Amino acid sequence: MAAGGNGQYDCIVVGGGHNGLVCATYLARSGRSVLVLEAAERLGGAAVTREFAPGFRVSACAHLLHLMPAPLMRELGLAGHGLKLAAQALPTVALSADGAHLRLAPGDLSDLAQHSPADATAYAQWQALAQRLTAALHPVLAEPPPRLGTGSWRQRAALLRLGWQIRRLGRRDMRELLRIGGMCVQDLLDERFESGLLKGALALDAVLGSNLGPRSPGTVLSLLYRIAAAGGAEGLAQPQGGLGALSEALARAAGAAGAQMRTRAAVERIVVRQDRASGVVLASGEELAARVVISSADPKTTLLGLLGSEYLDAGFVRRVAQLRTRGLAAKLHLALEALPQFRGLTPAALRGRLLVAPSPDYIERAFNHAKYGEFSAAPMLEITVPTLADPALAPPGKQVLSVIVQYAPYALAAGWQGQRQRFTDLVIDTLAGFAPDLRRCVASAELLTPPDIEREFRISGGHWHHAELALDQFFMVRPVPGAAQYQAPVPGLFLCGAGCHPGGGVMGLAGRNAARQVMREAA
Ligand SMILES: Cc1cc2nc3c(=O)[nH]c(=O)nc-3n(C[C@H](O)[C@H](O)[C@H](O)COP(=O)(O)OP(=O)(O)OC[C@H]3O[C@@H](n4cnc5c(N)ncnc54)[C@H](O)[C@@H]3O)c2cc1C
Repeated sequence: MAAGGNGQYDCIVVGGGHNGLVCATYLARSGRSVLVLEAAERLGGAAVTREFAPGFRVSACAHLLHLMPAPLMRELGLAGHGLKLAAQALPTVALSADGAHLRLAPGDLSDLAQHSPADATAYAQWQALAQRLTAALHPVLAEPPPRLGTGSWRQRAALLRLGWQIRRLGRRDMRELLRIGGMCVQDLLDERFESGLLKGALALDAVLGSNLGPRSPGTVLSLLYRIAAAGGAEGLAQPQGGLGALSEALARAAGAAGAQMRTRAAVERIVVRQDRASGVVLASGEELAARVVISSADPKTTLLGLLGSEYLDAGFVRRVAQLRTRGLAAKLHLALEALPQFRGLTPAALRGRLLVAPSPDYIERAFNHAKYGEFSAAPMLEITVPTLADPALAPPGKQVLSVIVQYAPYALAAGWQGQRQRFTDLVIDTLAGFAPDLRRCVASAELLTPPDIEREFRISGGHWHHAELALDQFFMVRPVPGAAQYQAPVPGLFLCGAGCHPGGGVMGLAGRNAARQVMREAA
């Protein structure tokens, strides 16, 4: 729907990442006029596909879809808007230096049973427990978090519902949740399993995208959180055409609902008049009016950059400024002339997610370097070869390798400028330990460090979650007290990106929750 006669939109959404698009769709479906303003030349934010070498395309940040709940995808009608999956229910292969890799596929523990019969039994028990615990957590993700200390019946009811979901677990599971909830994931894994490869794979899931190692407190919770977030989704999937194809389907859903979208439209400032957000000014100087502004840009950018501290009280400004937003995940893209031979893996096995995280100790050692602003000579890697399921991403017969590399400190002590080639070589050498002919296959490489991600995707610190997802920046206090229900302290201004509950990953729930909050609070 177009702006009203006075040129005013009901809602302006700043940023057309996946959360901005989800939010815009729900608001437009409610009959509101909605305009999405995206600074980049294409929509999708950190979920885009782009050419990184002539003829080679890749999902530039996020490369696997596994968190967006199936009911949300259906509600948005993404299949009808052109989304196709090139692969789904992908297995995970934990790589081992001796070629005895561990393959974990949904519903298939046969390879684990060969590695360790005891672990196969223990893993099935863990999966059952995790499913029960996360079934209680999953609904929490799909609702705005309750607000503490208000007399509102709706807030009290939300708290009661939360308590009831946990109480329903029963005494044994509730006790176990309390016992393990604050633990580090390494202790939990050592209690339950013997295989280093299995423990390494689960530890990677607990820390990927965050500033944590397997011995950091709270990492059992982050593992449960990832499982809970994935609870309604259908395993690890690869959209045909990369993650950008998901964003294109989201944009079509938003367009079909009546939302307008403009790219290359960087918002420079959120306009405040009579103490409420009333529109935006673009970098071009154009001013656009709206009853409500909803930003999917990260909280620091939105509140300190676009809004400005003059509209906020000093305590709130301090909390936002202190948000931990320095990313640790880098991305390496390789254009390959041919498929390298991974020792001990058939080309079919390469279609899965490959991990270089052979034990929790390996990961913790890699993390240790990051604490001092260095990168480790033995990094933790999550690898996909998207062209195996989707050959159109590369010229005929050629391949793309997409690698998430952790830990790559945002503030590298030696500075990234002189270290890019060394880091790239290090990752290629680490991979070549498993695929000796890799170097010969590499035609070109693109490295995105956290500062590159910050610059290119406009995310403060280049952080996966826009702000660290840790206990003190979580749920009812995410991103900060005073803005945890998607609502900024300035009336008419809302947040809807990964920096809000329930955090990052291509999930879409922050966008949907925020839209609901806007509909409630700014009817
Ligand atoms: C290296 C890396 C790998 C990842 N891998 C995965 C993965 O495999 N699977 C997964 O689920 N998640 C992954 N993630 C996390 C995931 O990509 C993000 O959490 C998610 O995409 C965030 O979505 P969003 O819509 O909230 O924000 P964003 O995607 O960051 O979108 C925000 C948008 O706002 C725009 N914007 C900012 N400022 C302005 C402005 N002033 N004016 C106009 N527009 C503006 C930006 O250009 C951007 O398009 C990864 C993240 C990283 C960094």
